[in-house]
Amino acid sequence: MKDDVDNQDNQENKDIQNNPENKDFLNNQENNDFKNNQENKDDQDNQLKNYYKDYYPVDKELMEAIVTQDIKEQLENDPNKIWKILFLILCVIAIIAAAVIGIHLLKEDVTNDSDDSSKGLKFLSWKEAHDKAKEKLNQFTTEEKLSLLYGSLNMQKTSESNICVGMIDPIKDKFGGICLQDGPAGVRFSANTQSWQAGINTATTFNKTLMYEVGKAQGKEFREKGINVALGPAMNIQRSPQGGRIWECYGDDPFLAGVAATQVIKGIQSNGVIACAKHFVGNDQETNRKNSSSNIKEQALWEIYMEPFYRSVKDADVGAIMAAYNAVNGTYCVNNSKLLTNYLKEKMGFQGYVMSDWWEVMSNSSDNFNNGLDMNMPGGFDEGKDYEGRDKSYWSNFKEYLKNGEISNERLNDAVERILSPMYKFDQFNENNKFPNVDLMKNTITNETKKLNREAAAQSNVLLKNEENILPLKNTSVKTIAIIGNDAAESPCIQYSDCSCKTFSNEIYRGHLALGYGSGTTYFKYLIDPLSAITERAEKEGIKIISSVEINPGNEVVDERNIFVGRDDINKAKEIANQADLSIIFINADSGEQYINLEKSVGDRYDLNAWHSGDELVNAIVDTYKSTNKGIIVVINSPGPIEVPWLNNVNALIFSGLGGAESGNGITDVLFGDYNPSGHLPYVWATKNDYPSPINIFSNPESYNYTEGVFVGQRYFDKNGKQYTFPFGFGLSYTTFEFEKNNISVSMTKEGLKINFYVKNTGDIEGETVPMVFLKFPDSIQTEEGYPEKLFKGFDKKLIKPNEIKAFEIIVDDHALSYYNINEEKFVRPSEGIYTVYVGFDARDYNLLEATVDAQY
Ligand code: BGC
Repeated sequence: MKDDVDNQDNQENKDIQNNPENKDFLNNQENNDFKNNQENKDDQDNQLKNYYKDYYPVDKELMEAIVTQDIKEQLENDPNKIWKILFLILCVIAIIAAAVIGIHLLKEDVTNDSDDSSKGLKFLSWKEAHDKAKEKLNQFTTEEKLSLLYGSLNMQKTSESNICVGMIDPIKDKFGGICLQDGPAGVRFSANTQSWQAGINTATTFNKTLMYEVGKAQGKEFREKGINVALGPAMNIQRSPQGGRIWECYGDDPFLAGVAATQVIKGIQSNGVIACAKHFVGNDQETNRKNSSSNIKEQALWEIYMEPFYRSVKDADVGAIMAAYNAVNGTYCVNNSKLLTNYLKEKMGFQGYVMSDWWEVMSNSSDNFNNGLDMNMPGGFDEGKDYEGRDKSYWSNFKEYLKNGEISNERLNDAVERILSPMYKFDQFNENNKFPNVDLMKNTITNETKKLNREAAAQSNVLLKNEENILPLKNTSVKTIAIIGNDAAESPCIQYSDCSCKTFSNEIYRGHLALGYGSGTTYFKYLIDPLSAITERAEKEGIKIISSVEINPGNEVVDERNIFVGRDDINKAKEIANQADLSIIFINADSGEQYINLEKSVGDRYDLNAWHSGDELVNAIVDTYKSTNKGIIVVINSPGPIEVPWLNNVNALIFSGLGGAESGNGITDVLFGDYNPSGHLPYVWATKNDYPSPINIFSNPESYNYTEGVFVGQRYFDKNGKQYTFPFGFGLSYTTFEFEKNNISVSMTKEGLKINFYVKNTGDIEGETVPMVFLKFPDSIQTEEGYPEKLFKGFDKKLIKPNEIKAFEIIVDDHALSYYNINEEKFVRPSEGIYTVYVGFDARDYNLLEATVDAQY
């Protein structure tokens, strides 16, 4: 049997390698062990689905109905029913009282954030941490060392509140164990946690301090719940906006993704919690993620896809990295010695440990381990015991391998040392400030997290259009506003895990969309929906809010995929719009992780259209208002761009992304001008067919060939002269900014390139501006596919008062001035020729200031 599987694997490996499309990419491949055990993986996926169903009963109403029915039937035949009824009434009263107290506590018992969980922590250098780890591992027996390499609980006990998604067992009297928990939008599987804005919204703020603060506040929650390792941030590059997990990551630009990742990791780790940079690397679509190879040439691999990981290692000392499900250039990431050992550990100098993505280690072989994978997560076979009743890890036979020499003691010690080192580095063994015990249900929502989350939500709204300054809605003549679109509504089932209001069957999402679905999301303890927030705020302006919004199951249509999708009642929307002076229409689209099928989107988005007939809804209101001068404002909640065919017919457009629990407040702050919008797009926004890398969710390709090379995102559009809707970095404000003309100075030093310039607020209100630096590299650079004409390499965000001029200094560091030289196999900083420096407000208005500087330093 084993031979059959091996033969089949070999055949499939050969097929992939012989496919002429892949040949190019697989040249020079030493280690082509790409396996495609589809059967095994399908089983795995089904089990995963069942597992989630068992432990997270998603249909709460159904459960309640079943319980009520049981009680009714029993009572009908019971002689003591009067007493039982009385008892039941008492129980109900007690439950209501408890609920009222609970709600009260939820409102009031948000603790003050004053206690500093990181107090007294002393972080070590990697060298000191490794020395301590070496000492410690000498106290362990071989079995004990091996037990650190894989978890055993296998997630099957997650319904008990204190079992993390990854658990390394304690060792009696020697070691307290390791709890690993998702991330990145907050603590997963915890009912009492802040639901932070999506990673993509973090990037959209273009605010380095805020990115750090969000990471820090998240890290504090992880620590307080006793979680050693936060499984985030995610930093895969948005190669295609259809990619299911783009909302967890930081957009299509590697420089921005690197900055965001660095800031968030530093924030998380400042609490003594180890961050885990994921998914290394090339996991850029969900379709067939476990059975496909992302074929990426070296230049793009280093400069685009590994760049955020490089920064995480070099600039943020990230403690752990998760290897992705997919293969890269024909070899699974978990088994890829080039990626894990050569690139990550040797070339980048990564000092922590590499874990697998969940259930990606699929064999008993020692290969993954020898090729650089240090930890097998969650450790067990698939989701529970295997068919022979064993529940041990695929790696549980490593003891024999040690005996027969398949694994060396050096490698074992190396892995254990790597696993322990970050714990020392981030002071998790501190005696005076002990790492808390695991308590996932601990309430960590505070007034401070609410405030920060609201600020991040507000800062991540991008104003894309504002014709005749229809916004903000302060001091306007508008008397009545219509709120239209289900996306504005309260979410009826916010408590569900993994999808805020979604199930595994083809359930339809209803209500406000504030996060995508999959392991990266959180339970929502609360979710501020736009309709409630706007209604409350509008009252202060004397504006009346009317709405067509309702949670309306049954109002569904069949779309072109033959899928039932929910939609708004268009006639009702028109009627309500008619009664108002202005309409705000909320539309959305969703995406997530591959194990969840939501409205037939198995992770990746089928297309870039608005869901639930959003376009039809907008067009209907456009039509309703056509002979009036009433305004239309559209707000989009989605993981990334959607197509906006009606853009010319609406007055304003806000892209709100996925704002987390405070989403509705964030949008309201921007709509009413309580916060002057300062978000910018962390990607280029175009229509589906204009991107170079569409994803067909109904196919299962074995290979994704990254033929666009380094020309990802804006670079592709620039190179090919393609039209786009909005450039990278685009975002309007309620005020205006101007650069002081021709006033730019640049100087090149060994440390980097220093750029100085001034920005003036030329409008009437204060606001934050984000000047952006783009570089053209010296012509001396020779690369296989040519080099982009301009690369995004720096930004800063500052608040400026009306008429005030502020000075900016942006430093482009040594690494950002370098390119990956494939012949020398390293980053090289050109020392000859000229860099052209451009400063502007986005990738279209990129050259408002221009200067040249000699590369020589
Ligand atoms: C995801 C990871 C996640 C892990 C544990 C996997 O399905 O790809 O991002 O950390 O599950 O939940």
